[in-house]
Amino acid sequence: MNTEFPIKRIAIFGSTGSIGTQALEVIAANPEKFSADVLTAHHNDELLIEQALKFNPNVVVIGDEKKYSKVKEALAATDVKVFAGEKALEEVAAMNCYDLMLAAIVGYAGLKPTLKAIENGKAIALANKETLVVAGDIIMKKAVENRVPIIPVDSEHSAIFQCLVGETRNRIEKIILTASGGPFIGRKPNYLVNVKREHALQHPNWSMGAKITIDSATLMNKGLEMIEAKWLFNLSPEQVQVIIHPQSIIHSMVQFEDGSIKAQMGLPDMKLPIQYALAFPKRIPNNFPRYDFKKVNTLTFEEPDVKTFRNLALAQDALFKGGNLPCIMNAANEIAVFAFLRNRINFLDMTNVIEKTMEQVPFIEHPTLEEYFDSDGEARNFAADIIKL
Ligand code: NAD
Ligand code: MG
Repeated sequence: MNTEFPIKRIAIFGSTGSIGTQALEVIAANPEKFSADVLTAHHNDELLIEQALKFNPNVVVIGDEKKYSKVKEALAATDVKVFAGEKALEEVAAMNCYDLMLAAIVGYAGLKPTLKAIENGKAIALANKETLVVAGDIIMKKAVENRVPIIPVDSEHSAIFQCLVGETRNRIEKIILTASGGPFIGRKPNYLVNVKREHALQHPNWSMGAKITIDSATLMNKGLEMIEAKWLFNLSPEQVQVIIHPQSIIHSMVQFEDGSIKAQMGLPDMKLPIQYALAFPKRIPNNFPRYDFKKVNTLTFEEPDVKTFRNLALAQDALFKGGNLPCIMNAANEIAVFAFLRNRINFLDMTNVIEKTMEQVPFIEHPTLEEYFDSDGEARNFAADIIKL
């Protein structure tokens, strides 16, 4: 065994997704450093089986219980333990067969397993930003109580985290989250009202899961990231700024109280922040393509257009008001994106659904965990009613 870097046992919650599959590429390239010990999928049994045969994890979970026997049979010749159903995610998160959870489930569904892993004292590499948007105060408090590090995977937050290494005693004046602007940058409502799902799913710089790709097109993704940043780095809402940077080379920046700004840069490739989070505090070599200043030699910046991309304004409102409002907004957004992806509502309707839901579901200033769960359910029902889902 490599004593300098003992093998880290990774539990990938959401192993069949965009983040999950890229994490497995990182693990496969570094077998002396990492092993994949837990893999979970929602519906994609075929890919889960393929991954389990290749990585020989301790446990797999298939969310869809109807697929349990198929997965079990396919892995009968191995000693991989197979579980199924939503509750199994929490049960497996409470096990001791792993060291670090990569939280790569999409949406609110990632919250409960992540909470269990924190209570179980496991380090978290956090891709699932919705967990912090919904219940950031409770998650961060539990992480401190259980001495659990939460290492961001989201590229912007990884950038800020990297800029902050060695700066623990220095005050942050503000952070500057960069946003590519998505496929519809510069467009106005009369154009946006007609965009189709296929068009919205084409992101210029990043290849990601469907939900986050739509969130990037509406700029809700950046709104979620502002709230995520507030909790991760213990900031006030005023300290979180967003700037559009279409080239996605600067992944985010920190400005300190002497005015000095640190930026983290590189080509847009999620494998880098994933690898950084898995290997932290070490950096490890890789052969990912490098950024060449001569090839992309113009980096530009502009103000986000919050009058057109109103989701970002709604998220800023939720960031400032706090309480259960980010949780309500997140739930309504998940329903709205789901409906847009099924061609049930148009691009701009998504914002209207979120706004109405935020106005209607009762505000709670200091919610308990149960109240967050209830607010999520109420907001989902309200948003689904508006759409008549
Ligand atoms: P994805 O849709 O590609 O994958 C989601 C994964 O979660 C899959 O493995 C799926 O099986 C599982 N899953 C989906 N619904 C589930 C449910 N209800 N219960 C249990 N498992 C479920 O998503 P992704 O793009 O990999 O994103 C995952 C998370 O990472 C999101 O929160 C996203 O915001 C965040 N993130 C992604 C990227 C990216 O480049 N893809 C970048 C930054 C942050
Ligand atoms: Mg991001």
